[in-house]
Amino acid sequence: MIPEPAPETAYRVLARKYRPETFADLVGQEAMVRTLRNAFKAGRIAQAFILTGIRGTGKTTTARIIAKGLNCVGPDGTGGPTTEPCGVCVHCRAISEGRHVDVLEMDAASRTGVGDIREIIESVRYRAAEARYKVYIIDEVHMLSTNAFNALLKTLEEPPEHVKFIFATTEIRKVPVTVLSRCQRFDLRRIEPEVMMGLLRRIATAEGAEIEDGALALIARAAEGSARDATSLLDQAIAGGGTATAEQVRAMLGLADRGRVLDLFDLILKGEAAGALEELGAQYSDGADPVMVLRDLAEIAHWVSVLKVSPGASEDPTLSPDERARGQAMAAAIPMRVLARFWQMLLKALEEVAVAPNAMMAAEMAVIRLTHVADLPSPEDLVRQLQGAKGTPAMGAGMPGPAPRAPVPQASRGAGVSMGGVSGGGAVALPAGQPHPLDRFARFEDVVQLIRDQRDIGLLMEVESGVRLARYQPGRIEFEPGPMASPDLAQRLGQRLQSWTGTRWGVSVVSEGGQPSIREAQLAQASALEAEALAHPLVQAALRAFPGAKLKVQSREEKAQAAEVEALPEVPDEWDPFEE
Ligand SMILES: [Zn+2]
Repeated sequence: MIPEPAPETAYRVLARKYRPETFADLVGQEAMVRTLRNAFKAGRIAQAFILTGIRGTGKTTTARIIAKGLNCVGPDGTGGPTTEPCGVCVHCRAISEGRHVDVLEMDAASRTGVGDIREIIESVRYRAAEARYKVYIIDEVHMLSTNAFNALLKTLEEPPEHVKFIFATTEIRKVPVTVLSRCQRFDLRRIEPEVMMGLLRRIATAEGAEIEDGALALIARAAEGSARDATSLLDQAIAGGGTATAEQVRAMLGLADRGRVLDLFDLILKGEAAGALEELGAQYSDGADPVMVLRDLAEIAHWVSVLKVSPGASEDPTLSPDERARGQAMAAAIPMRVLARFWQMLLKALEEVAVAPNAMMAAEMAVIRLTHVADLPSPEDLVRQLQGAKGTPAMGAGMPGPAPRAPVPQASRGAGVSMGGVSGGGAVALPAGQPHPLDRFARFEDVVQLIRDQRDIGLLMEVESGVRLARYQPGRIEFEPGPMASPDLAQRLGQRLQSWTGTRWGVSVVSEGGQPSIREAQLAQASALEAEALAHPLVQAALRAFPGAKLKVQSREEKAQAAEVEALPEVPDEWDPFEE
């Protein structure tokens, strides 16, 4: 009984059905085909070939076509090696179907042992059973072990006439140079979008399938140069019957509408956080993957940057005329530094999305942060702004550069300046054009910081707990004394400030209107913080587990301050080099 042939209507995946059988079918690899054709014509066929390129560019397909070309005898059985295998002779057919006894295909990714290579090398000595050449096709050859490579190398050094090797790899750098140097190398290129769209269109037509150009463009873009991926995607896209639309393909790929991603990009750059979040949310509920939206935004940032540098890049066939126009408008309007920062932040956001518990949340955080990109001044602008802010209006804006600050005499730091040196007089007369020494005490906190810097811990504690500030301006302090404040605090504070700053300070006591002291405010904040912490489920669980445990609450500011204090250099107290 003869087995029934598979019916013609049996479904085959498109990638296999339209697998190129000849070099003419192989799209986008013209350079390789030309070189091979010349070598075959001249009768200088290499002993070994190595094919490299990303997945799906046709490495194993090319290997089979070469194997067919080597062994083809033509329809009449008299032909020699050719780059145009006939496809009908016994050898061509057997190789196409992967059942030729003299063409051995192996995948090094699954068979890496030196034993397999030994088997091959043993069999190399025997002549081909039926064909002109014995052809060994080794896929992912970089996966072979060092021993396997060494065994292979011996054969490559003195190969029998009737043997040809065809290696394929996605990682050419992992193939030893000793092996590479004995192979003719072909780099299979990514298939260009135009070429890919042409290929997909031909397949769709051959299948009698209707598909929009926009849909083909999306597939070509998603396949990133891999014909196999593109064909598989086309297969899925037309599986439903009817006309495959761009919208369907977009949904299939989990892509957001590119026009809408451009809208989102626009909103973010305008700093419209609310609008941007709304648009992101709308795309999400329409089925867009938040990660893909971020990737699309990054892609747009890259694309607009490229357009800025080379406007010709807008001729990408996967773009609609509307998208092209919008891209060009953006390239003209957005400064490069904004685009560059946008790109960096998106890359970071994509990393974060990968570890975030919820991708949409991470995407929303990223969008909020990005809406601030356009407002952020560049480092240069920032320096300019800071320099501008230093000068006071009285000195006029026409100052040539920032004026140096007047040195502030510091009594207790270092040697040489005595405590009484500048006390007693009124405000020190300043040379014209110098900033006033009180400029750096815009806020009461600056005064407290000065006391801290001077390491007068006693005064610091008194000020922090005893000064309920009522009014403050640089050089003038009015406060309501706290319950523990000593009666002469105002007088001592005034004297100390005067000696440190070289300027007279008016410090006086008032009977009402004082704010809580620094210590009182800290205590209030700490108890609020403690209450908040106690309410936290984790803390409650911990307290249940360790009854009677004491809670130590530290605010972020306190933590930072503690770290700062630790980092302060020690100041020797009143160190005098002339003292014994
Ligand atoms: Zn043939």
